Amino acid sequence: MCSTLARASLSPARTRSKRMAEMTDLQLFNSLTRKLETFEPVHPGEARVYTCGPTVYNYPHIGNMRAYVFADVLGRTLSWKGFKLTHVINITDVDDKLINKAHELGVEVKQVRLRSQSSRWGSCSSSGTINYNWRLILAPPHVLDYVAAHEVAHLVEMNHSPAFWATVARTLPDMDRGRAWLKAHGRELMAWQAPATRQ
Ligand SMILES: [Zn+2]
Repeated sequence: MCSTLARASLSPARTRSKRMAEMTDLQLFNSLTRKLETFEPVHPGEARVYTCGPTVYNYPHIGNMRAYVFADVLGRTLSWKGFKLTHVINITDVDDKLINKAHELGVEVKQVRLRSQSSRWGSCSSSGTINYNWRLILAPPHVLDYVAAHEVAHLVEMNHSPAFWATVARTLPDMDRGRAWLKAHGRELMAWQAPATRQ
């Protein structure tokens, strides 16, 4: 469904389509005022959209898809109308696991970034930035637990020494389960590719 929409907006009638986009206002239903209102960005030419991400602990159901389809259609519409779009989606359980484990070790995570890394599941800098491979959102929760414990432990031990593994075990005594899963299924997970960038 989403790719069909993308193709429609890039058809040969692109110039006419662009003119149409400029001519028409975008109207959205404001659930606070209960009225249909014309979208006016805070910064001209820029649209910033925040939408709730998946709850990765829970079982997915067909209703979950509505949120992503809506966000996708809205984002594509805003881009089509010429706005510079910044779309943020949270992945609550990734943040929560890191924050809780950092508290346990008495360290601070300053920033979390999802990245498309081809050979790593995560990385950690001494300044407190933790990078996650986005593919981990497709892994079972206990694997997210393991990567969180691993990366947060690097804020204490920036190496893979026995002291480091003892630090991982402090926040996740059952760490071998997550390590074993990544060893067995990591290659399959790495095969997933991010969709092409929106145009
Ligand atoms: Zn490591």
